[in-house]
Amino acid sequence: MENQVKVLVTGAGGFIGSHLVKYLKKENFWVRGVDIKYPEFFESEADEFEILDLRRWDNCLQATRDVKEVYALAADMGGMGFISNHNAQILYNNSLINLHTLEAARTNGVKRYLYTSSACIYPEYLQEEADVKPLREEDAYPAQPQDAYGWEKLVSEILCMHYRNDYGMETRTVRFHNIFGENGTWEGGREKAPAAMCRKIAEAKLDGKNSIEIWGDGEQTRSFCYIDDCVEGIYRLMRSDFPEPLNLGQDRMVTINQLADIISEIAGVKIDKKHIDGQQGVRGRNSDNTKLREVLNWEPEISLESGLAVTYRWIEEQVQNKTGNNKSHKALTQSGVS
Ligand code: NAD
Repeated sequence: MENQVKVLVTGAGGFIGSHLVKYLKKENFWVRGVDIKYPEFFESEADEFEILDLRRWDNCLQATRDVKEVYALAADMGGMGFISNHNAQILYNNSLINLHTLEAARTNGVKRYLYTSSACIYPEYLQEEADVKPLREEDAYPAQPQDAYGWEKLVSEILCMHYRNDYGMETRTVRFHNIFGENGTWEGGREKAPAAMCRKIAEAKLDGKNSIEIWGDGEQTRSFCYIDDCVEGIYRLMRSDFPEPLNLGQDRMVTINQLADIISEIAGVKIDKKHIDGQQGVRGRNSDNTKLREVLNWEPEISLESGLAVTYRWIEEQVQNKTGNNKSHKALTQSGVS
């Protein structure tokens, strides 16, 4: 442990944070994880895991003590439905988390700080067509993000830039484009499109109904990046000397209908798509990876199909376990046992 560099991962109980802790342990770091909850699906590999609400300044001071580097992933967030309907809550919570974590890191002498931003910072006016031009980092301005979630991310990016300029802290900023994978939220309203689609298809398959609902006409487009590529990209950016915001995602754009077709094929079922009203976010979005390739000499390489195959199998198992548990609970209740 003496030779190990000590790092903090905030949001370590969440999807990307829990995978990142695993990755950093393999790279031989001493890791402190902090979150308001433990990871839901597996035990954290962090050397130390503290339950702390990072909206509070005193907790941020505690979280950032004695570490050299911070990976700041904590955020109040979710899929499109959640983000569009909780603007005030998201802006309040995430502003507090980011202001306090960064200032506490400076107070405690942290050397490197990686902030996790989002493709949601890009202006709405560049994302009105399904066949959208891939977004370059410099397209962020003039700013017009769709929701408070994007505005807060943009302000925190600026905050990192000023901490670098004014205090000499090495800050890194990554803009994720739709990260997906196993061991992430797959139900309850905060799940993202790939997890929601895997769950709907698994439920339809297990019920024998073979029909799912899709928000909107399904022709809206996105690119999706598998979690293993995401954590590798985060790590490469932290180790690089590139201080500006950088996209991290795949640049293969698919429609939501195509996403459903790929998952149906993996599931081995034919699915009817029913299009209903619902939050769709921007009409089209894709990542321009020119700068990513230049800066990191690397880009995400795991195909959508391979990533979805792992993710779908994991979510089908969760759905199966849940349905099985519900059925056995029902049987026990009916026989008067529970
Ligand atoms: P997640 O919701 O799984 O993880 C975020 C974690 O932050 C959660 O475990 C949550 O409990 C924790 N958190 C929330 N409020 C907190 C508080 N007050 N104090 C301490 N912890 C708190 O989300 P994720 O997908 O792992 O996202 C990680 C980061 O990446 C977030 O900043 C998110 O905005 C950003 N991001 C993710 C995606 C994506 O596709 N998953 C896309 C763009 C940006």
